[in-house]
Amino acid sequence: MKALFFDNDLPRILAVKAASKFDKLAPLSRISPVRYAEVPEPRLPNSRWLKVKNQACGLCGTDMHLIFMDMDPGCFPAATPGIARKFLGHELVGEVVEAGADAGEFRPGDRVAMRIDWPSCFQLEIDPPCPQCRAGHYMRCENLGQKNLPLRDVGGGFSPFMVMHRSQPFKIPPTLSLDRALLLEPTASALHGVCKSTPRPGDRVLVIGAGTIGLLTTAIAKALAPEAEITCLARYPYQAEAAARAGAAHVVSDREDTYDALARLTHARAFKGYFGNRILLGGFDVIYDTVGNDQSLHDALRWARGGGSVVILGINFQPGKLDYSPIWHQEIRVTGINCHATEADGKTSFEHAAQLLLDPKFPVNGLITHRFPMRRYKDAVRTFLDKTHAKAIKIVLEHD
Ligand SMILES: [Zn+2]
Ligand SMILES: [Zn+2]
Repeated sequence: MKALFFDNDLPRILAVKAASKFDKLAPLSRISPVRYAEVPEPRLPNSRWLKVKNQACGLCGTDMHLIFMDMDPGCFPAATPGIARKFLGHELVGEVVEAGADAGEFRPGDRVAMRIDWPSCFQLEIDPPCPQCRAGHYMRCENLGQKNLPLRDVGGGFSPFMVMHRSQPFKIPPTLSLDRALLLEPTASALHGVCKSTPRPGDRVLVIGAGTIGLLTTAIAKALAPEAEITCLARYPYQAEAAARAGAAHVVSDREDTYDALARLTHARAFKGYFGNRILLGGFDVIYDTVGNDQSLHDALRWARGGGSVVILGINFQPGKLDYSPIWHQEIRVTGINCHATEADGKTSFEHAAQLLLDPKFPVNGLITHRFPMRRYKDAVRTFLDKTHAKAIKIVLEHD
């Protein structure tokens, strides 16, 4: 079968890095460590695994980070033990076609999404599990690199088949539509972010960014805290329209003077120091930064009220340069998320996400803007890069 995967192959990585200086699409070329190539169709490595036939899979920003290898060797994740081959595609919907005798609750015919992607104590069957996995924080596993998966070519959402350990899948409620099921994973991530600092009634909330995660964060904050006042900061007009549909009471374009606009909305006092140094006093109670770069975090720390919180949902593999003085000066709480986990109430982020998505009023219709057959994945990647012109939100790849 053909699969899209990344090989941790230094000569290829260096070659494509050099070529990228002249052609930014070099990571899609033949020399790239990311290849859409033949691999053996996976077989169950033991009775605790199951085989899934994939139907479709969303293209995520993290897939793009992997394809374009924009991880700085100096960032934290770059030092974690990697895996030799990483199959791309985790926002998948598939059907169980074969289940080992000990595959737990899963039976052929079940529709599943993938809850746990990166290796953790769960798939590696490390007993006892590390404290993080025991608490359901599989993305923070402390046993990374201590053991290999029983099979290298497990496949992923961008291959027609894959195998999963029984701990990995999430059973999709039968009444959930395919399009909504494709949003389970990003919804689980956004939910995990909102749960890091759930707004209280009357709180002023800012969501920075109106891509898939920004829009889902807006919709979730609105669903969990209907009496909070949510503002969304959007870059493009098509995103601004989507943010209003997602439930934002106010949408601010980042092309206007954002400090002035946000000061007006929060009744904060705006101050200007030297060299364009601008701040607000009395801004937002909670800010979700779904962009996650130096500029967005710089602004988020200045737009939060004293004692407010900033949650980073946008991921970035570049060590930045940042004025962190608002954190101590205004005693701002800063945290972030790495995908999803088990929430404080003991339910998984996925269970919460499914519950939200099952409500037809949860405003996600229209979030999937583009669909491509898997063999045209390069067109999907190009569309992702050219989101503005394509007016793309979520791009999905479909299997035959
Ligand atoms: Zn994702
Ligand atoms: Zn662990």
